[in-house]
Amino acid sequence: MEAVRHYIGVIQVNEELNAWLEVYADEAEVIANELDKEIKAGLPLKPLHGVVIGLKDVICYRGHTVSAASKILAEFTSIYNATVTQRLLEAGAIIIGRNNCDEFAMGSSNENSAFGPVKNAVDHSRVPGGSSGGSAVAVQAGMCMVSLGSDTGGSVRQPADFCGIVGLKPTYGAISRHGLIAYASSFDQIGIFGQSVDDVFSVLDVIGGPDDYDSTVQQLSKFGKELYAGIPSLARIAYFKNALEDPALDVEIRDAIMAFIKKLTAAGFSIEPIDFEYFDHIVPTYYVLTTAEASSNLSRYDGVKFGSRLETDETDLSNFYKINRSKGFGKEVKRRIMLGTFVLSAGYYDAYFTKAQQVRRLLSENTNSIFAEFDFIISPTVPTTAFKIGDSKNADPVEMFLADIYTVFANLVGIPSISIPLFSHSSGLPFGLQVMSSRGNELALQRLSKKFVEIK
Ligand code: GLN
Repeated sequence: MEAVRHYIGVIQVNEELNAWLEVYADEAEVIANELDKEIKAGLPLKPLHGVVIGLKDVICYRGHTVSAASKILAEFTSIYNATVTQRLLEAGAIIIGRNNCDEFAMGSSNENSAFGPVKNAVDHSRVPGGSSGGSAVAVQAGMCMVSLGSDTGGSVRQPADFCGIVGLKPTYGAISRHGLIAYASSFDQIGIFGQSVDDVFSVLDVIGGPDDYDSTVQQLSKFGKELYAGIPSLARIAYFKNALEDPALDVEIRDAIMAFIKKLTAAGFSIEPIDFEYFDHIVPTYYVLTTAEASSNLSRYDGVKFGSRLETDETDLSNFYKINRSKGFGKEVKRRIMLGTFVLSAGYYDAYFTKAQQVRRLLSENTNSIFAEFDFIISPTVPTTAFKIGDSKNADPVEMFLADIYTVFANLVGIPSISIPLFSHSSGLPFGLQVMSSRGNELALQRLSKKFVEIK
C-alpha cells in the first residue's frame, strides 16, 4: 500500500510529462490492500508481489480502455486480459495505469499519439523516444518500478536509450502476443523497461513462456541456462564495422562505444569488427514488410468490426468505412497503411513485398553464420541522443525511419536485444549500448549485460 501511494504521488507531480493516459489509483490501492492481507495471513510471497507496473496502451486489461493512443479506439474497452496481464496479476503485480505511446506503436518519438506527445524527464523540451515513450518515462521518472512496452523495430530499446534506463526486447516468440494490439505480427514482441538488468529479466521470467493462445511462443529459457552458465568473460563478441562508421552516427556516441570496446578488451573479452554486407538494406526491408503487415492488421478498424463509428447518412459501405478510417486514424498510421497497401498491390507485390521477404531470409542466414562464430553482437542503440519535440525529423518520415537503423535488425531476424544505459553525452543526455545474442539466449544476455554494467 505504501508503495502504491508513493507512486501515485510521483505520478501526480509529473503530470506534465504526459506519460499516462489513465491511472488506476483506487483500483491499485484495492489490489495493494489484498496483497498486504496475504502477507499478514502468512501466505507465501508471489514472484512479483506488490511490484507496481505500467502497461503500454496496446496491451489488453479486462474491463479497461485500450486505445493504442488512437482516436479510433478511444472508447474501446477490453473484454479479456492479455496473457502478460493475466500472468502479472497472478504473480502479485499491481497495474497502476496505461502508458501513452505513438498511435498503433508507429513512430520513434511519441509525437504520433492522438493524446499529445510525451516529454523526456531529463529535458522536457525533448522526446522520450517511441513508440513506447510513456512506458519509458514512467520508469525514468520513478512513476512505477517497471513497465511493459512493445517492440516491433526498437520501440522499447530506443526510448530506453533516450531515457537512460534498461529496455529489453526478448527473442521473437519468447512472450505471448495474445492481447497485444498488432502492428506487424511477425516482428511484434512485448518488451520490458526497468532501472536495472535484473528487474527486467525477473519480469520476463513471469510473463514469458508457452501459451495456448499464441502458437509462435516457444520454451526458450531452458537451453540458454545450460549454454552460458558462468562464462560471460569467455564470450566472443562482434560489432558491425559499417554500423560504427555510419556518417549518421553522432561522433561522441561512436567514440564512447569504441572506448568501451577497448575497456572490454582490457578486461579479457574478445571483440572483433565484422563487415555486414546487407547493412544498407535493413531499414528499407523493415519498412516494406512492417507496413505490409500493418495494412492487413489495421483493416479491422472500420467502425463496424472494430473502431468508433461516426454519425453519418452514408449508405454505401466502402464510403462508410472510408469516413470512419479517415477521421479515426492519424497521419502516420494512414501513411503506413497506404505504403503497405501499395507494396502488397498486384502490380508491385513481387518487386517490393517478395523482394523484402527474400532479403529478410538472407539477413537471417547471415545472422546464423555470425552466431556460429560469435556469441554476441554489440552496437549503438540509436545514432543520436534524444532530439527536440517538433524536430525536423517529424516532418521528414524518411529521416525518422533511418534513425531506426540499429534496432530494426533484431526484429527482422527475431533475436533478443537489450539496451543498457552505460553512457552520458556532453549535452547531459544519456545513451545506451545495444547487446544482441542468438535466439533464446536471454540468460546469456542477462549475465553479459550485468557484467557490462559492472565494467562501465
Ligand atoms: N520506430 C519504429 C517504427 O516506427 C519502431 C516501432 C516499434 O517498435 N513499435 O516502426
